[in-house]
Amino acid sequence: MRHFAVIGSGPAGFYTAEALLKTYGVGARIDILDRLPVPYGLIRFGVAPDHQSIKAVAKRYEKVALEPGARFLGNVHLGADVSIDELLGLYDAVVLATGAPNDRRLGIPGDDLPGVIGSAAFVGWYNGHPDFADLAPPLDGDAAAIIGNGNVALDVARILSKTPAEFVGSDIVAHAFEALGQSAIRTITILGRRGPLQIAMTPKELGELGHLEQAQPRVDPADFPPAEADAALDPGQRKSVAHLRDFAAATATEKPKRIIFDFFARPLAIEGDGRPERLIVERTVLGEDGTSHATGETYAVPCSLVVSCIGYATPAIPGVPYDDRLGRFPNEGGRVADRLYAVGWARRGPTGTIGTNRPDGYEVAEQIAALFPAESEDSGRRGGGGLDALLALRGCDPVPFDDWQKIEAAEVAAARDGAPREKLVRVGDMLKAGGHGA
Ligand code: NAP
Repeated sequence: MRHFAVIGSGPAGFYTAEALLKTYGVGARIDILDRLPVPYGLIRFGVAPDHQSIKAVAKRYEKVALEPGARFLGNVHLGADVSIDELLGLYDAVVLATGAPNDRRLGIPGDDLPGVIGSAAFVGWYNGHPDFADLAPPLDGDAAAIIGNGNVALDVARILSKTPAEFVGSDIVAHAFEALGQSAIRTITILGRRGPLQIAMTPKELGELGHLEQAQPRVDPADFPPAEADAALDPGQRKSVAHLRDFAAATATEKPKRIIFDFFARPLAIEGDGRPERLIVERTVLGEDGTSHATGETYAVPCSLVVSCIGYATPAIPGVPYDDRLGRFPNEGGRVADRLYAVGWARRGPTGTIGTNRPDGYEVAEQIAALFPAESEDSGRRGGGGLDALLALRGCDPVPFDDWQKIEAAEVAAARDGAPREKLVRVGDMLKAGGHGA
């Protein structure tokens, strides 16, 4: 019997577990650990609450968790409840699928003001991540600035723009639904340090901005090169840019909210008395190599909320090599060290779609299978039985999948009309609903 541990129960973790199950059949036991009592990582806490069709992939992960060879163990924190060396002592291989849940800092003066929020925190707040349940972002001002030209910037702009009626069918958590319903924000400026042809936004997500009930996207036609330039773009990017060109060509409507795309705008500083009042921006031009260059011309964008959507980092784990500059585990094709692997964003950095994680997981499973052929001699490692004993000694109370299903049932039962669930946002409440703790 082979024993494998996968750390993290988001897409990368589940695709790896799925691949290992397919490779070894009944010849392996796979434990999928998560620091929270609830599974699915990015699917639950990253994917926007109004993108339920994307979240449906969790059903595939559920099937994996219910396989006889797999176990989900929530509420187990690597680094606190168990060390990496202990796991490597118990399991034949350990796969880090810990994602990239930390915000990259803007690194400009004023980025520490309350009201300057990273997208991991802001998205975590409206998606009910326990770490951000108390964030209370300031929504009482008229204007918000969103820094970055990726899909996360679009998610944040859309969520800030929607009316309560537009959240029907979503699983946005009650605290965010109520706060956004009272929001005074009318102007949302999305700032990109490069131009409209250099965006990292995909067509479907960009197109959604054109169908908002109360908000209109605005783009300055002067920001575009001549239309012939689009021919050099790949087809997906061409579609995205076509949306931007449509936004630029549209006439202004009576809609009370505006989503302004401010291109060639590099943030320099955030100023304000105890909270953001303005973002100081430098105009840039695009160099031949596609990078942005400063012009020295600066201006101020009024705003009382700043959300930076400039990418994420993987948290370091004691005992695991870590590359500070890249913000992830250094690895060669997923191999971090002897019998230790990384998959997904912990391996590649925060890029790609959910599906990109599938080949990642399968590739690492192949490497593990090459190291431990199915018919090879048993290593004698104790696997899950050993982990259970260790956790019991430490007073750690793991949440197995059937207890997660109790939590899920409680969330479904608490859903407001038209919503699929009302997520529990406190770890204590999750544990209680799962039949754990007092
Ligand atoms: P992203 O796609 O890497 O975009 C990051 C943006 O931030 C880029 O426009 C980048 O500009 C900009 N940026 C980086 N550092 C900056 C700085 N210091 N100052 C100003 N701007 C800066 O990251 P993301 O939006 O966080 O998305 C992460 C991944 O999740 C992506 O693969 C994304 O497609 C995916 N995602 C998908 C969906 C969906 O499919 N619905 C939704 C959300 C996220 P430069 O290009 O100039 O570096």
